[in-house]
Amino acid sequence: MRKICLLGATGSIGKSCIDIVRQFPQQFRFTTLSAHANIEDLYSLARRLKPRSAVISAVEDIEEWRRRFHKIGVELQQGMPALEEAAADTEFDVLVNAIVGAAGLKSTLAAIQNGKTIALANKETLVAAGELVMSAARKHNAAIIPIDSEHSALWQCLVGENIDQVERLILTASGGPFRDKPKSFFRKVTVAQALNHPNWDMGAKITIDSATLMNKGLEVIEAYWLFGLKLEQISVVIHPQSIIHSMVEFVDSSIKAQIGLPDMRVPIQYALTYPQRLLNKLPRLNFIEFNTLTFFEPDTVTFRCLQLAFDALAEGGTAAAVLNAANEEAVRAFLGEKIRFDQIPHLIEEALQNHSNHRSVTLENIMQSDSWARNFVRKNQ
Ligand code: NAD
Ligand code: MG
Repeated sequence: MRKICLLGATGSIGKSCIDIVRQFPQQFRFTTLSAHANIEDLYSLARRLKPRSAVISAVEDIEEWRRRFHKIGVELQQGMPALEEAAADTEFDVLVNAIVGAAGLKSTLAAIQNGKTIALANKETLVAAGELVMSAARKHNAAIIPIDSEHSALWQCLVGENIDQVERLILTASGGPFRDKPKSFFRKVTVAQALNHPNWDMGAKITIDSATLMNKGLEVIEAYWLFGLKLEQISVVIHPQSIIHSMVEFVDSSIKAQIGLPDMRVPIQYALTYPQRLLNKLPRLNFIEFNTLTFFEPDTVTFRCLQLAFDALAEGGTAAAVLNAANEEAVRAFLGEKIRFDQIPHLIEEALQNHSNHRSVTLENIMQSDSWARNFVRKNQ
């Protein structure tokens, strides 16, 4: 029986994780569940899944709720420090980090310090602080297993292989809902259009990131830190069907791909059972139904965010923390209808140009750059 601390239980990844865990009641059990603002949802999950504790990070007045949780045998904690404490708990075996944004960073670090295994969906953690997170993980012997479908695919392709014999990683991207659109179209994009992803049903922030291709940019940075290869060894190909989840090319020209229907429950289950595989009831891919797989070069001029991510990674230091935080704020502003869709890359680029880079990537410097970038975007939007 593996005990799981699930942060971000009420989100899209959180719900898929719960779905998988419920299919394997003999193998997994939740010790802690967290949510940011939706306390009703957290309560109904707690009633169903009976964790030992629950954390609500944003809601303040919780006395009445604390009593209600107590009645169902669940201890309710409140606030961001409580989230970190939950992640630092020694009671669980795996931390599933399904929080959205750099807000997930400190919890990941807390779990790493206890040498816990981390099933990581929260890619922003690695984008903002990849160097810090990976060196802490090595120091404390904590495994970080990716949930992101591309990285899970790469991970699966690399099982049994020698990383020194990898020529390059090929990340696939659906291209999002605006793959074929000209740049002029981006001025008029509505929130509803940008939230309508062709292949995946995800949280709002990552759905917008998929429409700007920033999601792929964040994933390039995520892959760089997870697999420790050179930036030149990471490439992106547009593959609109999202059937090949990513590929590894080896020095002998052989390529391995991981293939399946686009369903996040697959990489979530793999992260929880690795290195084993368990029989499940998920739908199987029928090749005859998906008999056309196509591939295109990404257009980094129209989709500027992807280029900005490559540039921030090449710059190093705290540039990627700025890229990430500026993107989070710009996406928030777009979702709140305060800026246009085509302003997202501009705001990020301006933040990167105006930021004074901290070459040494301490947690303090990362947090400082993160809040500087957020303020910059808020002031300039
Ligand atoms: P979501 O918005 O659906 O859910 C986010 C969860 O985090 C919610 O439970 C919310 O309560 C919590 N949360 C939000 N802000 C928080 C904060 N400031 N502090 C603490 N908790 C907070 O998001 P999602 O789509 O499930 O994505 C979660 C993470 O997984 C993201 O990093 C995303 O990039 C990554 N991811 C998601 C998918 C997907 O299919 N949804 C695929 C790959 C990677
Ligand atoms: Mg992905």
